[in-house]
Amino acid sequence: MTRRKIASHYALIGTELRRNIVVEVDDSRTIIDIREVENLDSEPSLEFFPGILIPGMVNLHCHLELSYLRGQIAEGTGFAGFARSIGAVRNNFTTDERLRAASAADSTMWEEGIEAVLDISNDELTMGIKERSRIEYTTLFELFGLGCNSIEEHKSMALRHASSSITPHSTYSLQDQIFRQACTANNSIISIHLLESDDESQLYENGGSLAAWYERMGWRCDFLHYGTPSRRVAESIDPHRDVVLVHGCRATEHDIALLNAHFMGQVTWALCPESNRYISGIKPPIELFRESKANIALGSDSLASARSLSLIDNMRLIDNVPLSELLSYATINGAKALGKEEYLGEIAIGKHPGLVVIEGADLHNLRLTEESRSRRII
Ligand SMILES: [Zn+2]
Repeated sequence: MTRRKIASHYALIGTELRRNIVVEVDDSRTIIDIREVENLDSEPSLEFFPGILIPGMVNLHCHLELSYLRGQIAEGTGFAGFARSIGAVRNNFTTDERLRAASAADSTMWEEGIEAVLDISNDELTMGIKERSRIEYTTLFELFGLGCNSIEEHKSMALRHASSSITPHSTYSLQDQIFRQACTANNSIISIHLLESDDESQLYENGGSLAAWYERMGWRCDFLHYGTPSRRVAESIDPHRDVVLVHGCRATEHDIALLNAHFMGQVTWALCPESNRYISGIKPPIELFRESKANIALGSDSLASARSLSLIDNMRLIDNVPLSELLSYATINGAKALGKEEYLGEIAIGKHPGLVVIEGADLHNLRLTEESRSRRII
């Protein structure tokens, strides 16, 4: 059996960044030893990677199938503008172009150290790429559209593929009955885009750009009686379900408390700050989530609204959070949300989380810099 002994300047062990740690891994990628040594130089056959050693990361919100839209939509169009632009450019690409872009994005994510992804799909085009990938994908086939009136097609897609299920897109894009059906079709994880912009809440008060767009198109909504997006979620989803709530940029203390009180299952907020920057220039209220002791994880969203799928790029946009905590968002917290913490998300004996080095960090102040990048070792 070949073993590799690996060290960096720092290693993320539990929630701490520690020095002088040697991690030993066998050829099945399982961690078989972690020990602190006085002097790394005296350790025989050690592979030293300058930087910070972390476990493989979990991207808790991605749309791999939209990778072909990289650079196609202007930054700063705002929320409704972005939704309209996607509709306008979506059909300008061939199947081959879409597949090539998704395949390249999958390879880059692997090389950057992504170990597992919760991926949102509207069709089966990229399923082959995901099934052949070294990354572990969980796919949620997403119900979308005010005119959508059956979940059957999505249910059949989910039945044809392992590690897949169905989910509603958001509280503004599906009528009442379909939203409820999408949430009760099975017992898997549910992931909803929630409170990404002011327009979502304003829709329930008949204001904002979403309401104006729907009005122009003649689209009616039968769900506005819930009053707010978070109340709709609480009143439509079984409290025992595990949910991943995506974005939360406009979540208030009241929304977070309401959802915490409702759900007994696990609630994870998947923040995608690069996508929020790209579309609207707004930031998720990280302090509110931290104060509420929420499980916070990170997602990349898609290349339609992000310059990259790098979780390091996303971490860099979050202010005033210690690096060790940011790293836990991208690793163990995401693994917990997917129920994969038994074997992923942490450098711990017996787990096989993959090993990744962050290069170009400021090691004196333990901060990311513009040059910081993640690179897979194992
Ligand atoms: Zn999304």
